[in-house]
Amino acid sequence: MKREKSEALFEKAKKYFPGGVNSPVRAFRSVGGTPLFIEKGKGSHIWDADGNEFIDYCGSWGPLILGHANDKVIDAIKKAVEKGSSFGAPTALENDLAELILSNNKYIQKIRFVSSGTEAVMSAIRLARGYTKRNKILKFEGCYHGHSDSLLVKAGSGLVTFGNTSSAGVPESFVNETIVVSLNNEQAVKQAFADFKDQIACVIIEPIPANNGLLLQRKEYLQFLRDICTENKTLLIFDEVINGFRIGFTGASGYYNIQPDIITYGKIIGGGLPVGMYGSSAEIMSHISPEGNVYQAGTLSGNPVAMAAGIAQLTECLKPNFYEELERKTRSLIAEIFTQLKLSKIESSNFKIFTVGSIFYIAFTDKEVLRSAEEIDADSMKYFRILHKELLERGIYLGPSGYEVGFVCEAHTEDDLIKTAKAFAESLEIALK
Ligand SMILES: *Cc1c(COP(=O)(O)O)cnc(C)c1O
Repeated sequence: MKREKSEALFEKAKKYFPGGVNSPVRAFRSVGGTPLFIEKGKGSHIWDADGNEFIDYCGSWGPLILGHANDKVIDAIKKAVEKGSSFGAPTALENDLAELILSNNKYIQKIRFVSSGTEAVMSAIRLARGYTKRNKILKFEGCYHGHSDSLLVKAGSGLVTFGNTSSAGVPESFVNETIVVSLNNEQAVKQAFADFKDQIACVIIEPIPANNGLLLQRKEYLQFLRDICTENKTLLIFDEVINGFRIGFTGASGYYNIQPDIITYGKIIGGGLPVGMYGSSAEIMSHISPEGNVYQAGTLSGNPVAMAAGIAQLTECLKPNFYEELERKTRSLIAEIFTQLKLSKIESSNFKIFTVGSIFYIAFTDKEVLRSAEEIDADSMKYFRILHKELLERGIYLGPSGYEVGFVCEAHTEDDLIKTAKAFAESLEIALK
């Protein structure tokens, strides 16, 4: 595979950007080698600067549920941008996207658009604090909520801990407001509520944690969180930036039928353009300015071009059988991979693919299920590195980290899936040797 152009572009990028990138995981540090510079995408395929073609399962890390450069999304963007790209004044498109979302989602009544998932979560936390007049928040090790200060916190040692900052530049005093516990551990949550009685503003969780492997939670556990929050007048935030519109139109809330107090969305909602959103009951949302005293604003919030892209994409998601078909394809891809492994007589008892909806996660583990971050073996990433490299050589593009999930999109064809399964069998044979 030719890499000269990507390599030259990366050398140049390193002069301009720290590590040569504008978001760290893109730098290929955890798999080694040079990041591919992508020239274009169409449907399920992407092409790099050297002209290599790949079947893509990264999908821009989740947003592209219809695939790349979907005709309907592109048309909507063109139509919108011809009328002007931003006004800093309300447009009808904001109403249209809000109506599309709210008329199909019984878990929220009012929303606010922002420009990224990070911003959505940061604002939701401020709302929870403003509403409850409490300062502490509780999060789970292994859930990612964007890069705002109070959430760049990892667990210390012990059942219930104030976190340690997971980034330089986050003051110790901020971290003392964030309690971090393991996923799937009811005792730790009970302990936290006992230790910090009447102090916890919110519990925030990715109900289907998909940013550190795929750590599927038990429904009873999520219900337990719902109940303990209600008992303690603490708000439950479902961070559905990755789950929303992916696991069905109503995301994980609908999948488990659990009513959180605040929901955050991002990724798919913007059709590939920068959009985030948080929503709640009309009563809780009335605390947001200008109605209430929790301040939150944005120059480009509700941007008309981004709204148009979101409307076009979500309209497709609402068509009958959209999610059933995505899930069917995902299951068929996984089944085909295991069929190919069997045909090639590859011993693969330590190779697992965990899945829900159109999300899949490749893990090298002998465990039958992964529920907490500690259950992912850092040492097993050595297999992923080889698998990733061999798959690239065979025209399959996965996100460049063994902690990331993959996504099947509407544009993947049966032919893509068969090719992918064959490439997996060949690559795994090398990785597991
Ligand atoms: C991606 C993600 C975020 C951050 O969104 P950005 O748009 O990257 O800022 C927050 N929470 C979850 C669950 C995510 O998957």
